[in-house]
Amino acid sequence: MSESRGAKPGPEPADRVVIGITFGNSNSSIAFTVDDKAEVIANEDGDRQIPTVLSYVDGDEYYGAQAKAFLVRNPSNSIAYFREFLGKDRGANNGALNSFKSIDPTYCHAAAHPQDNAGNVFFSVKDKDAEGEASSVSVSEAATRYLRRLVTSASDYLGKKVTSAVITVPTNFSDKQREALIKAANDADLEVLQLISDPVAAMLAYDARPEAVVEDKIVVVADLGGTRSDVAVVASRGGMYTVLATAHDYEFAGVQLDQVLMDHFAKEFIKKHTTDPRSNAKSLAKLRQEAEATKKALSLGTNAQFSIESLAEGFDFSSTINRLRYEMIGRKVFEGFNRLVEGVVKKAELDVLDIDEVIMCGGTSHTPRIANNLRNIFPESTKILAPATSVSAINPSEAQARGAALQASLIQEYEANDIEQSTHPAVTTVKHISNAIGVVTINPDGEEVFTPIMQAETAAPARRTVHIAAPKDGGDVLIKVVEGGTHIKVTKPEPKAKEPVNGDKGSDADSDFDSEEEEEEEKREKIWKLGKQLAEAAIKGVKKGGKVEVTINVLADLGVTVTAREVGGKGGVRGNLAA
Ligand code: ATP
Repeated sequence: MSESRGAKPGPEPADRVVIGITFGNSNSSIAFTVDDKAEVIANEDGDRQIPTVLSYVDGDEYYGAQAKAFLVRNPSNSIAYFREFLGKDRGANNGALNSFKSIDPTYCHAAAHPQDNAGNVFFSVKDKDAEGEASSVSVSEAATRYLRRLVTSASDYLGKKVTSAVITVPTNFSDKQREALIKAANDADLEVLQLISDPVAAMLAYDARPEAVVEDKIVVVADLGGTRSDVAVVASRGGMYTVLATAHDYEFAGVQLDQVLMDHFAKEFIKKHTTDPRSNAKSLAKLRQEAEATKKALSLGTNAQFSIESLAEGFDFSSTINRLRYEMIGRKVFEGFNRLVEGVVKKAELDVLDIDEVIMCGGTSHTPRIANNLRNIFPESTKILAPATSVSAINPSEAQARGAALQASLIQEYEANDIEQSTHPAVTTVKHISNAIGVVTINPDGEEVFTPIMQAETAAPARRTVHIAAPKDGGDVLIKVVEGGTHIKVTKPEPKAKEPVNGDKGSDADSDFDSEEEEEEEKREKIWKLGKQLAEAAIKGVKKGGKVEVTINVLADLGVTVTAREVGGKGGVRGNLAA
């Protein structure tokens, strides 16, 4: 019998029933594949985004949307926002009771509060019966109970017991957190085939689409969730993914947008009833749930309702908001997402011009303003894959679960040990070339032109071939193989005479957006800069209309072999360069 990655014996490969899971702090999703296509599974409530919440009422366990609804009436027996705490202990504190250093319990204020038992984090909930003693449920136990519910939902849907899964994790999940997640899953009788990083899961989902062309590209994956936003710059080279830089942010995510709407409507309520609904826990919980629903409605339509029965002191409250107003009041948060994405591109020592695609995933990526803002900071040539900016975008809430399911179906036939070995760091942390490699040829104007053959950050070993046209009448072709770097050429716009202002100051709300868009922007282009020459070869007497084939082979130790020969001709030139 094979061993799963944690310790527990797993099923034989042939007996496996596999799914993909995203296990978030706010929501989780489960997906499976049918005919090589991944589909997200709706649970028994019909939800594809299943809130990561457990709630106990009279000894019954509720999970998902039902448990989330109980955050209003039964917060102290509900466990929410706990994924983040897996594998983390309380952390050193300065002796204060329940003061946590390594975990942030902020979001748990609306649910059972994490407590400290000799450094371990647990929740105290009445899970047996409402009158009885409260039980201590550790973070690991909460994760096990929740994962068990996900697996049951998936098994019911598929009509067979799910045995194994690929689960996605953030790129900054520590080894301890990974171990804790695997243990929690194993305790739920689930074999973890592999943990894959969230951004790579999203890329797998995109690359598996029938229309996808697997090409060398640099992709930004913006995973904007409820309590955290994770952005990664990933190089995809010949189907290998390399994470070049990441950023993790807890200040700009979905809950901050909920807060903007909560504050907005609370102020309206105060104007009418002179009482602040935020000062009472139950009113606050109602406000939070309705704010989130209104926020989601504003992603689809341009107007949304906000209404709550008996919000505070017995007063009902009802109002509306339009998208423009929402975008105005949330402007600071929206700008934060821009800075986050720009920051991680810089961290990867790249420019926005280097980015081929931005994959937007996570629930908050449904927000049109965020996608439109990113559209404005990236050049036209960069695809912004979000519902607001691209018809071919995958539902941002589903991309990662789909990627995990595809990976699960790909590796399910392997023995657990083989899967482990193939994903061992020694194999996946391969060397990369730091500069592009390409050929320099002379164009008809006599200028040197650089044609990249292999992009920077290509994982070694790698091999690429190009065909270069010989001069019109044939003859000798001189091939220079060089390293290439890029720099950004900035052309400032010609200063324009100012239009006379005719008294119209444009006081309506959208004038700010318009004036920004109309501003003439400087032109920025990516220009190749020639670096070190690696090889030079002359192919003599190439036929009229002939072509020269150049192959660059980068070995695992970064040594380079260059071969040049006439297409269809005999012989050729080959040179080796040490790493
Ligand atoms: P995290 O781990 O960061 O807490 P998650 O990965 O568990 O998040 P997601 O489902 O990716 O959860 O994101 C949840 C967030 O997305 C919530 O703030 C939710 O309100 C928001 N969201 C979901 N759908 C939409 C929508 N249609 N428009 C705007 N926001 C949405």
